[in-house]
Amino acid sequence: MKVLVIGGGAREHALCRSLSQDPAVTELHCAPGNAGIAQVATVHPVDQLDGAQVAALAGRLGAALVVVGPEAPLVAGVADAVRAAGVPVFGPSAAAAELEGSKAFAKDVMAAAGVPTARSYVCTTAAEAAEALDAFGAPYVVKDDGLAAGKGVVVTSDREAALAHAAGCERVVIEEYLDGPEVSLFAITDGTTVVPLQPAQDFKRALDGDEGPNTGGMGAYSPLPWAPAGLVEEVMETVLQPTVDELRRRGTEFSGLLYAGLALTSRGTRVIEFNARFGDPETQVVLARLRTPLAGVLLASATGSLDQLEPLRWDEGAAVTVVVASEGYPDAPRTGDPIEGLAEAEADGTAFVLHAGTKADEDGRVLSAGGRVLSVTATGTDLAEARERAYAAVDRISLKGGQHRTDIALKAATA
Ligand code: AMP
Repeated sequence: MKVLVIGGGAREHALCRSLSQDPAVTELHCAPGNAGIAQVATVHPVDQLDGAQVAALAGRLGAALVVVGPEAPLVAGVADAVRAAGVPVFGPSAAAAELEGSKAFAKDVMAAAGVPTARSYVCTTAAEAAEALDAFGAPYVVKDDGLAAGKGVVVTSDREAALAHAAGCERVVIEEYLDGPEVSLFAITDGTTVVPLQPAQDFKRALDGDEGPNTGGMGAYSPLPWAPAGLVEEVMETVLQPTVDELRRRGTEFSGLLYAGLALTSRGTRVIEFNARFGDPETQVVLARLRTPLAGVLLASATGSLDQLEPLRWDEGAAVTVVVASEGYPDAPRTGDPIEGLAEAEADGTAFVLHAGTKADEDGRVLSAGGRVLSVTATGTDLAEARERAYAAVDRISLKGGQHRTDIALKAATA
C-alpha cells in the first residue's frame, strides 16, 4: 500500500514512523514534511491547504490512502478534494471538521447528542459577553469561536482580561469553568463504528508546574495510572458514540480521528473540546504504545470497514514525550539555529526523536524552523522508566536557547 501523509510536524513524524514500520506499507510519502520525516518518507513541497494540489499528488503517486494530519487542511476541505478524486482518505470532510473549526457548532452537536460539557453562551457583542461572564462568575473561560491553533482560549479570574479577549474575537463562547484533571481520549471512526485508543495527558503551559503561557503542548504521557477504571468505556458511551451518531444523523458523517479533550470534574466527566484530528503531542505517546500496524487501522476508517477490524493491541508499558521548543516560544520563537546531538539521543535505542519545526540546510545540518522543534519520545516498562529515558535523550541534544519542561509525567510516575 502506498500512503501519503499531509502535514509537517511531530504528529506527522509520529504517524510516518508508525506507518514506515507497517509491513503493508510499500511506499511512504509526506507533504510538506520536515527534516526528520524526510528520513522515513519521500517528502513533497506541496501547499497542504490546497485540496487540488494534494489530490493531484495522491493521484500521481498512486496512493491507496491519504492521511491528513493537521486541522487547517481538514477545515479547508482537503479531505473532500482527495475523496472526490476517488482516493481513500483518513480525515473528516470540511463540514464534519467544523466540530473543531467552530466551538459553537461543537456545542450545538453536544447539546443535541446529550453529551456532558460546560454550560455556555455564544456571544457576539460586548454587552452579551459581560452578561455571560457575570452569569458564571470567576474563573472566566472565554473561547474564540474559530480555529486559533490552541491559542484562542483565555482562562482568567481577571474580568477585564476576559472582556478584552472577547472584544478581540468576532464571536466567542463563554462557558462555566471546569475543575479537575484533563484527559485526552482519541477514537478512530468511520462515521458509524468507533474504536477508542488509549488515554493520554498533555501539558499545555510553557513552564514547569503549569506556569507560564498556553502553548500547543510541551509534553505528554500514556497510560494514566491515576485515571478511574472504566473511563474509556464511559466516554465511549456518553461522548464518542453519541457524537458520531449525531453527526451522521445530520448528514455530516464524521470519519477520521475524533479527539475528546475531557475534564474529570467533581461532578463527572465533561467535554472541554473536540478536535477533528490526532492531537500533538499526545499522538507521539499513543502511537508509541500501539502494536497493531497503523495503516490497516487508518484504511479501515477511510473505507468504512472498522467493524471488521481486529481489537487493537497495545504495549503494556508506558510512553513519555518531551517537547523541545525554541527560545522565545510561544510568543516570538527564534528559528534557524543548528540542532546537535540528534544521533546521540537515539544511540542506545531507548528513545527516538520526532521532528516538529525543523529543516535541513544545504550541508544536511538540521536547523530549527518553528516554535516547537522536537518531540523526544521514549517507552519503558512504566512511566518512571520512560521518563528517565526521554530526559536522558533530551540531555544529549543541544539547541541554542532551547527550552523544555522538566516535569512531564513526573506526578503520575511518582504517585
Ligand atoms: P481548548 O482549546 O478548548 O482545549 O482549551 C485550551 C485549554 O483551556 C484546555 O486544555 C483547558 O486547560 C482550558 N479550558 C478550556 N475550557 C475550559 C473550561 N471550561 N474550564 C476550565 N478550563 C478550560
